[in-house]
Amino acid sequence: MTTEVLKQHLIDPEICIRCNTCEDTCPVDAITHDSRNYVVDADICNHCMACISPCPTGSIDNWRTVLRVAAYPTADQLTWDELPKEIPLADLPVDAVALLDNNGGGELQTNAADVSLGSVVAPASASQPTVNLHGIKNFISATVSGNFRVTQLGTESDTHHIVLDFGSANFPVLEGQSLGIIPPGVDAQGRAHHARQYSIANPRDGERPGYNNVSLTVKRVTTDYDGKPVRGVASNYVCDLKKGDVVQVIGPFGSTFLMPNSAPSHILMICTGTGSAPMRAMTERRRRLRLAGRDNAGKLMLFFGARSQQELPYFGPLMNLPKDFIDINFAFSRAVNQPKRYVQDVMRERTDEVAKLLKDDNTHIYVCGLKGMEAGVLDALRDTAVTNGLDWLALHQIFRREGRLHLETY
Ligand SMILES: Cc1cc2nc3c(=O)[nH]c(=O)nc-3n(C[C@H](O)[C@H](O)[C@H](O)COP(=O)(O)OP(=O)(O)OC[C@H]3O[C@@H](n4cnc5c(N)ncnc54)[C@H](O)[C@@H]3O)c2cc1C
Ligand code: SF4
Ligand code: SF4
Repeated sequence: MTTEVLKQHLIDPEICIRCNTCEDTCPVDAITHDSRNYVVDADICNHCMACISPCPTGSIDNWRTVLRVAAYPTADQLTWDELPKEIPLADLPVDAVALLDNNGGGELQTNAADVSLGSVVAPASASQPTVNLHGIKNFISATVSGNFRVTQLGTESDTHHIVLDFGSANFPVLEGQSLGIIPPGVDAQGRAHHARQYSIANPRDGERPGYNNVSLTVKRVTTDYDGKPVRGVASNYVCDLKKGDVVQVIGPFGSTFLMPNSAPSHILMICTGTGSAPMRAMTERRRRLRLAGRDNAGKLMLFFGARSQQELPYFGPLMNLPKDFIDINFAFSRAVNQPKRYVQDVMRERTDEVAKLLKDDNTHIYVCGLKGMEAGVLDALRDTAVTNGLDWLALHQIFRREGRLHLETY
C-alpha cells in the first residue's frame, strides 16, 4: 500500500494582511478565516491556483509536503503565528517519497477555473511594481508628516488624509498599490495585532513630487458591518496619529490593480468613500504628466459615491480639476431633500459615454470601495453593454483577460 503524499496549500500568517481576496476568489470555498488567521482546508482545496495571483502579498503561495493523513487541520492553522518548517523528505516514508518523485505529489494545475470577476493580471502597459519589500520581520518606519480630515466636521464619516515620510529609506510605489500598517499593542489573545491594508493615494513620484512620502485615505471605523458600535483597531490608531509620530509599515503590495502607461489610455474609475484613494493617485499622475507637457490624451471618467457631499473625501480639490481633464460624476445616497443615488444609477444616466468607453480597446476600468458596490457596478456595465448592442459576456472576459477590469472592494 502506498502512502499518499500531499503538497499542502498553506497561508503564511506572518505576511498575510487579511484582505479576504483569496476567500472571495476560491471557487470551492476551501479558504476560511477567524479574527486572526486565513487558512486553507486540505480536504477541499483542489490546487486549482485561482487564488495565487490575486493575493497582494504572496502569502497564499506556500506549500508543504506532508502525508495526506497528517495534513495540518484548519483548527491548527488558525493558531499559527508562523508557518511550520518543511519536513525533510528523508523523514517521509520511502514509498511516499517514491510517489512524490513520480508525480510531484499533489498535482499543481495551472489551468485554474478562474472565478474572479475582475482581472488577475495587470494592464499590459503597466510599470513593473515592487512588492513585499518590507514584511513583518523587516518592517519600515515612517514618520507622520501630516494628518488632515477630508470629510466635513460634524458628519458621521471621519476620514483622514495621512502623509507618511520614509526619509532616506526605500519604499517605491505605483498608483493602485497599497501598504500595510502594523497597529501597536496586542489583541484579546495577547498576540501582536496583524497589519491592516491601505491604498496609496498619491502618484509614484510622491505625495509631494520628488519627496519620499506617501499618502493614505483612512476612514475611522466606529461600527462593524452590522452597524454595532466598535472601535476599529488600525483605523482609529491611524486617524489619531500626530505629526512626528512613527508608524510601522509593510509592503508595498499589489501587482495587478495598476494604471496603464500606453497612450492613449482611457481610465474609467468607479469608487465610494476611501475607494477614492487609488483613483486620486491615478488622476494626480495624469495631472502631473499633463502639466509636464506629456498629456496621455486618454479620457478620464470618474463616478464617485458617498452619502453626501460633506462626506465625500477630497470634494473641494476634485471640483477644482478642469472639465476638459476629467469627467466627474457624483452620486449621493443621503443628500438632504434629494432621491438616493448610487454610482450605478449615475453610470446608467451616462450610458452613452460609458458605452463609448466599453467599445474602446484602450479603456481600463477600476472599481474600489465598499464590498456591496461590486455587483451593482457590474450590472450597470452589463446593462450599458447590452443596450448598446455589445455582447457583455464576451466583452467582460476580454476586459478581464487583458488586465483592463480591476475590482478592489473591502
Ligand atoms: C485591498 C484593501 C485596501 C484597503 N484600503 C483602505 C483604504 O484605502 N482606506 C481605508 O480606510 N480602509 C482600507 N481598507 C480597509 C482596512 O484595511 C481595514 O480593514 C479598516 O481600516 C478597518 O480596520 P480596523 O483595524 O480599524 O478595524 P478592525 O479592528 O479590524 O475591525 C473592527 C470591526 O469592524 C469591522 N470592519 C472592518 N473594516 C470595516 C469597514 N471598512 N467598515 C465597516 N466595518 C468594518 C470588522 O468586521 C470588525 O467587526 C482596505 C482593505 C483592503 C482589503
Ligand atoms: S488553490 Fe484553488 S481550491 Fe485551493 S485554496 Fe486556492 S483557489 Fe481554493
Ligand atoms: S494577503 Fe493573500 S493570503 Fe492573506 S487574505 Fe489576502 S489574499 Fe488571502
